Amino acid sequence: MHKVVILGSGPAGLTAAIYTGRALLEPVVFEGGFHDTGELMTPGGQLMITTEVENFPGFPEGVTGPELVERCRKQAQRFGAVHRDEVIEEVDFSGFPLRLRASDGWVEAATVIVATGANARWLGCKGETEYQNRGVSACATCDGAFFKDMEVVVVGGGDTAMEEANFLTRYCPRVTIVHRRDSFRASKTMAQRSLQNPRISVQWNAVVDEVVGDGRRVTGVRLRSTADDSVRDFACQGVFAAIGHEPNTKVFRGHLDLHDDGYVRVGPRLTTNVAGVFAAGDVCDKRYRQAITAAGMGCMAALEAEKHLDELVAAGRIGH
Ligand SMILES: Cc1cc2nc3c(=O)[nH]c(=O)nc-3n(C[C@H](O)[C@H](O)[C@H](O)COP(=O)(O)OP(=O)(O)OC[C@H]3O[C@@H](n4cnc5c(N)ncnc54)[C@H](O)[C@@H]3O)c2cc1C
Repeated sequence: MHKVVILGSGPAGLTAAIYTGRALLEPVVFEGGFHDTGELMTPGGQLMITTEVENFPGFPEGVTGPELVERCRKQAQRFGAVHRDEVIEEVDFSGFPLRLRASDGWVEAATVIVATGANARWLGCKGETEYQNRGVSACATCDGAFFKDMEVVVVGGGDTAMEEANFLTRYCPRVTIVHRRDSFRASKTMAQRSLQNPRISVQWNAVVDEVVGDGRRVTGVRLRSTADDSVRDFACQGVFAAIGHEPNTKVFRGHLDLHDDGYVRVGPRLTTNVAGVFAAGDVCDKRYRQAITAAGMGCMAALEAEKHLDELVAAGRIGH
């Protein structure tokens, strides 16, 4: 039986691995990979599709997402973390030890840290993947500063889209919200804040059919009217998808308490409804969604797992 099994190798999982490794708990990290279904959970997580991270402390010149992940991975390995490039397909948290199924069978653990993250929902239109990190983004807090004095569109109509649009007006003289309907589903306060912001305008009843570029960067979007199907081009240098996130929690359904939108329900100490199972990072946080907050939660979950193991030892349920 492993003392600690960590699911995920983004900043939350790797920070948990550094802390539990230094505490000599020999953590095993399931880094991600292909599910049996063929779905890919990218090892390293969301930072692997991030070119420039400028807001992670300790990197005054910035750092690329993949380099940040690689540094964290090396740091965890230095303290004895064992990395497996696999996903967990199934869990059984009904008894002790906790059980998890990887591709080659079940593993047992005294504590589990769930750090499986969340993925932004992308628009799924032509040109979007091609221009990711070259004008297309899903995080204004992360990338807004790269669009200073540029014209951008934000796609969506919920609270996230309103927040992203308002935030972007710090940098951008004109932010256009593209929304498929003729009213926002965001809360009234948030919607009003956007509608009253002189830097924000709205393209109602429109969807982005294509992200257009010059081969290097985004130069505009092709909008299609949801009212009459007419198509027209709209010039901009940035496109922010703000249509929500999908937490990676399918394997925990029926095993962990989840919110209606799929995020893991945690207590203030990152406990879940199952003793010994903790969650950290974007999988349980839809408010901050930053590498540094995910890393902070990874640290918290690791320290809580350590305390839980002490209690199990004191109760005679596991050896030292
Ligand atoms: C384009 C983009 C740019 C960003 N830029 C910045 C930025 O500049 N600054 C910043 O602070 N934040 C940025 N972010 C946000 C940041 O990347 C996330 O907040 C952070 O990565 C969350 O970390 P996490 O460890 O919780 O989850 P993730 O990074 O999502 O990692 C989840 C991990 O879980 C694994 N996994 C999933 N399911 C399973 C399973 N069943 N079994 C095993 N493993 C599994 C995945 O493979 C992955 O390793 C950006 C995000 C995006 C998408």
